[in-house]
Amino acid sequence: KALKLIVTGGAGYVGSVCVARLLEAGHEVVVVDDLSTGHADAVPEGARFVEGDAADASADLLGEGFDGVLHFAAKSLVGESMQDPGKYWRGNVFTAIRLLDAMHEHGTPRLVFSSTAATYGEPEGSPIPETAPTRPTNTYGASKLAIDHAITSYARAHGLAAVSLRYFNVAGAYGRYGERHTTETHLIPLVLQVATGDREEVKIFGDDYPTDDGTAVRDYIHVVDLADAHLLALDHATEGEHRIYNLGNGTGFSVRQVIDTCRQVTGHPIPAAQAPRRAGDPATLVAASDRARTELGWKPERADLHGIVSDAWRFTQERR
Ligand code: UDP
Repeated sequence: KALKLIVTGGAGYVGSVCVARLLEAGHEVVVVDDLSTGHADAVPEGARFVEGDAADASADLLGEGFDGVLHFAAKSLVGESMQDPGKYWRGNVFTAIRLLDAMHEHGTPRLVFSSTAATYGEPEGSPIPETAPTRPTNTYGASKLAIDHAITSYARAHGLAAVSLRYFNVAGAYGRYGERHTTETHLIPLVLQVATGDREEVKIFGDDYPTDDGTAVRDYIHVVDLADAHLLALDHATEGEHRIYNLGNGTGFSVRQVIDTCRQVTGHPIPAAQAPRRAGDPATLVAASDRARTELGWKPERADLHGIVSDAWRFTQERR
């Protein structure tokens, strides 16, 4: 059944890819984005675009009657969250609560929320299941966890059908939709900037981690596989329940392995230099995503790192 949906943050990286997939599946989409980090030209054709605050603009729209909201809009820089926590408590938590209140007021039945592996903090074991303790090591993760708690109680009290998706390391691109942050902090786009000549070298943050090659290990997931989990989440959301799912491939790659893959894909030597560990970075973050596979029927189709990097590289070259 075609749904009428609001997508906050639909001008951003993951949001725009998700909107493109929702439109392909026949849903009707209104994108709400304040363009603080997104780009108006990243809103897929076929979506209606409203420029504004994720909560205020959505509250104005919800009276039209919507089947659900996908809430992507957020501040997501770990370092900034430690220096300017208010920006995260107000921008992420307060905004989400105002959005939840507006949804409750208008009787909007479904919510899919972009949560994060950062809610777990330094894990006790690997891979990480949803039952792992949540002890975020930074304000960004704490703000997302606070929203998850709020969603749980709104679902129970008001019958909201809610799903939180905890993203591991999202990468890759889809057609003309990809990662284009003004302040880029993510490993793969930074490494690819070396290959295009926009950056001299890549810094490896820490080579003394307790991992095979000493560099940090992450679970890289293709943005299209991630987006498709949101469509499944909409299908499976159940009244009065808040379900939480990890989204990752279940395989870890080290920083060095990622750089090597980028060298293979681009044919560029990509000089790399050792640098100190980045504060708050766990050694290994790999998802146990059995719950998403079993309950949502989700199956990542683009798990190969070479393919993920190739898609990011094609996007990077086309944007130049
Ligand atoms: N990283 C790095 N050099 C960089 C950027 C990132 O060594 O220029 C490392 C970072 O310390 C982490 C991994 O690459 O171990 C992935 O970092 P990213 O910021 O992409 O994602 P995160 O895991 O922090 O969400």
